[in-house]
Amino acid sequence: MSGDANVGSNPVRVALIGPPGAGKGTQAAALARLLGIPVISTGELLRRRAGVDDDTGRALAGALGRGELVADDMVLGLVQEALASSSAKAGYILDGVPRTASQALDPRTPPLDAVVHLSLPDGVTRARIARRHAQRSDDADRTAIENRMRIYHELTEPLCDLYRSRGLLVSVDATRRVDEVTQSIMRALADRNVVPVAPPTA
Ligand code: ADP
Repeated sequence: MSGDANVGSNPVRVALIGPPGAGKGTQAAALARLLGIPVISTGELLRRRAGVDDDTGRALAGALGRGELVADDMVLGLVQEALASSSAKAGYILDGVPRTASQALDPRTPPLDAVVHLSLPDGVTRARIARRHAQRSDDADRTAIENRMRIYHELTEPLCDLYRSRGLLVSVDATRRVDEVTQSIMRALADRNVVPVAPPTA
């Protein structure tokens, strides 16, 4: 963790965790815009790779459609590629990784200054996903949704304890309006000197 007072020149390395529908993608984009840093979204990287018509692409499309986790080697390989090809000197927002303890402890997972937990009750998760059905095939399948929620509670949510014990966790109520959630995250990151107090506006 950085205890440096000269926060303006420090990279801002943040991960977002939360259940499906919590708004990780939306908040990642908002933070990236405010902070001028790239988003690395494992869901997007995997969906793009799944669109390639080869054995890996087809296997991946199957796993995504069922709401199953993808192997660490695949996920972390894509993350490292994305990081290498983006301008991440000033930092990055990770959306979708780490998702399990094994990923959190894997040295291929990029280092973090803060982990933002977007908390959302299961009932709200289901209602939100029902509304975005049209855009993603894994949102249209009830079994896949329940699978992703179960995996979230069993494997991802426990990461909150890990990052809390490291002093990196920022937990925010994700039921509020998008801009209110963004503001709470920015305030919490500023309180911890992870971002400058007055972020640059885009
Ligand atoms: P959501 O959070 O709504 O489930 P994402 O776009 O983050 O959506 O992820 C979509 C799917 O991509 C997941 O259900 C899972 O199959 C796969 N996935 C994303 N990130 C990871 C990861 N870090 N490890 C393993 N699988 C992942």
